[in-house]
Amino acid sequence: MSLKVVKFGGSSLADAGQMKKAADIIRADADRRYVVPSAPGKRFSADTKVTDLLYRCYDLAEKGENFSAVLEEIQSRYNEIISGLGVDFSIDADIREIEENFRKRAGRDYAASRGEYLNGKVFAAYLGFQFVDAAEVIFFREDGSLNQEKTSESLRKALDGVAYAVIPGFYGCGADGYVRTFSRGGSDVTGSIVAGAVRANLYENWTDVSGFLVADPRIIDKPAPIRTITYTELRELSYMGASVLHEEAIFPVRSAGIPINIRNTNDPSAPGTMIVPESHDEEVSAYTITGLAGKKNFMAINLHKDRMNSQIGFCRDVLDVLAENGVCIEHMPSSIDSMTVIIDHAQIAGKEDEIMTQIRKRVNPDDLYLEDGIALVAVVGRGMCRTRGVAARIFAALAHARINVKMIDQGSSELNVIVGVNEEDFEQAIRCIYDMFVNAAEVSR
Ligand code: ASP
Repeated sequence: MSLKVVKFGGSSLADAGQMKKAADIIRADADRRYVVPSAPGKRFSADTKVTDLLYRCYDLAEKGENFSAVLEEIQSRYNEIISGLGVDFSIDADIREIEENFRKRAGRDYAASRGEYLNGKVFAAYLGFQFVDAAEVIFFREDGSLNQEKTSESLRKALDGVAYAVIPGFYGCGADGYVRTFSRGGSDVTGSIVAGAVRANLYENWTDVSGFLVADPRIIDKPAPIRTITYTELRELSYMGASVLHEEAIFPVRSAGIPINIRNTNDPSAPGTMIVPESHDEEVSAYTITGLAGKKNFMAINLHKDRMNSQIGFCRDVLDVLAENGVCIEHMPSSIDSMTVIIDHAQIAGKEDEIMTQIRKRVNPDDLYLEDGIALVAVVGRGMCRTRGVAARIFAALAHARINVKMIDQGSSELNVIVGVNEEDFEQAIRCIYDMFVNAAEVSR
């Protein structure tokens, strides 16, 4: 028998109707044994997530203001779900306890975690599964990082002999014994931790989209879906802005070699996207590339100095200045007598003049200037390293679209090509590369 851990996001559990869909999915496969729910999310676009209501409620409590109206709103969200599901369950005692703890200033993390806690209890009652409080099985260290050993051990112990259980997402227990949460969207991480600890065969992450798309649907009309992607490719694409899964969610399953399947609660027959270890990548995309993503708001620091190449430590000195100012760099293309450092604008905003002065003092360049308004486009695909002419096609597409390329970077793994263009050309760059690889492949099929 195989074992699946299934995580349902907030929109998949936003009301009783959505919860029923999730429960049908769980019941359709006896291998779906451990369920990790988020708190109820938005039912419609102007709606408020329960987690945000909890933050709002606690902020009032902390200021000593009256928070009963917001707490009632939260309670009625759950009561609507409970009555919609027709389950014999009450959260009244829990709400009273939460109210008391808010008055005692139990902390913002405790407050936010109650969304998952209550939802987990309601969902467990509806499914007839055992409820396992995440505060008893997920542990953080003093520095806020996950205590992997203690967590895995506790999870295994708590789930030993338990056929079906619900473990709420998003929170655990801090080193001081108080509830702590992951960053927003952190139920994805909980699901991954549970899957890793129980050595699941698959981690299914149910959300409101049918997986990852080759490109951003705000730029490309109905982009093709990504059927299979490796963990490494996903890291590259997520870093460049493709977001479906919490950034930290791949690590616990990756180390155990467990694939993640992103699925759509509103379209359960769609296969979604499989995120697989590098060793399972037999099925390479028909388009050669796996995905395309990008971001605006980058800046370039351009330096020129005659005979820079023979000056030992030149690049290091420039990077030292940036490091001393707490600036993280993205790329560093160079030539014999010049170098460019590409930086996310937010990293350097407000410190530009100071940093330029320090660089000037440290390396005395012949020329030094800042260039703003740069966008980066990442073309990602494990199929690229086995295929000749990929770079040629990327640059031919850009040239035909009359887009000037300001920077090129190809990682040594040949997994991605990163191109820097002017921000005004960003959308067009994505479109023409998409056309070249995806639309052209569709036509020739
Ligand atoms: N409920 C939390 C949030 O809104 C965590 C999650 O949904 O994963 O961020």
